[in-house]
Amino acid sequence: MVAHKTSERYCLGIESTADDFGVGISTFNGKILANISNGYIPKEGGIHPREAARHHAEVADAVLAEALAKAEVKAKDLTLIAFSQGPGLGPCLRTGATVARALASYLNIPLVGVNHSVGHIEIGKLKTGAKDPLTLYVSGGNTMVTAYASGRYRVFGETLDIALGNCLDVFAREAGLKHKKGVPLGAAVEQLAQHGKELVLLPYVVKGMDLSLSGLLTAATTALKKGNCSLEDLCYSLQEHAFSMVTEVTERALAHTEKKEVLLTGGVAANKRLQDMLKFIAGEHDATFNVVPRAFAADNGAMIAWTGILAYTHGLVTPVEESFVRVRWRVDRVDVPWVK
Ligand code: AMP
Ligand code: MG
Repeated sequence: MVAHKTSERYCLGIESTADDFGVGISTFNGKILANISNGYIPKEGGIHPREAARHHAEVADAVLAEALAKAEVKAKDLTLIAFSQGPGLGPCLRTGATVARALASYLNIPLVGVNHSVGHIEIGKLKTGAKDPLTLYVSGGNTMVTAYASGRYRVFGETLDIALGNCLDVFAREAGLKHKKGVPLGAAVEQLAQHGKELVLLPYVVKGMDLSLSGLLTAATTALKKGNCSLEDLCYSLQEHAFSMVTEVTERALAHTEKKEVLLTGGVAANKRLQDMLKFIAGEHDATFNVVPRAFAADNGAMIAWTGILAYTHGLVTPVEESFVRVRWRVDRVDVPWVK
């Protein structure tokens, strides 16, 4: 039994930008008391936004109840509700926002809309202790290199088309791999890649500080269908090319910004090979390498709860009439007054 101080303040954060519906509960000191997630697994193909939103509406009640029970916090003792306001899939975001608005108004407590990408950076900082990192944020929907400068997280490089996680997921589906609970498609590619021996040459597209992954995906998929190389070799080659591209851009941003910490965050951060590549370039530039723990790598409610606390304690709240979702809300449009 966790005995909470009665003076303790808590934020409940709701994440629903894509396939995961997550609820996290954090104290105002950054102690994560609960982080419960329920992911939508499509019967076939990729994420269908309306189907995912329907899943979120169906599980919201149970995920909320489980998080409150795990944290041993009563709804009436919450101080704040935070939610992922964007970027993400419209129907999914709206479902989470509706739950958040309903809770905040029922409990008569403030609401804070959180930028999902800022959430991934802040949970990475909280969990690793990094203070001012150059961050590589790689997930199912985002791929970017960011660092703090002049009041915001600035984007130093990003994908020009699909996200790194999406690239791995689509390839995995083309290869007939199935998404199982607890084993995301990217992790299935990682397992096969460990048995790859031959590097198959594929497109490597870095343009200035940005990169493009769609040509790589097409070439890898075409090679797969031709059947001349093994799936293991293709998984290995896909990873080597894609990860080298993001690592190259990260290294250049590191040389430019001269930050002393590198942070890897987002769902793809769980990948050991990507971790090794980034660790190497961090070492070359005398920077420390920090990776978000696996439990907080993929989309989760805890990162939203914690970022909501940072915003709220720096005077930011989101009135209900401004709580509409922001499907394309870029990280560099968000003021982060808590970062110095
Ligand atoms: P997120 O969008 O942050 O929830 O992250 C989900 C993405 O992370 C999906 O594209 C997954 O396939 C990917 N992912 C999860 N685990 C791994 C892994 N071990 N290696 C590569 N990608 C992964
Ligand atoms: Mg996800």
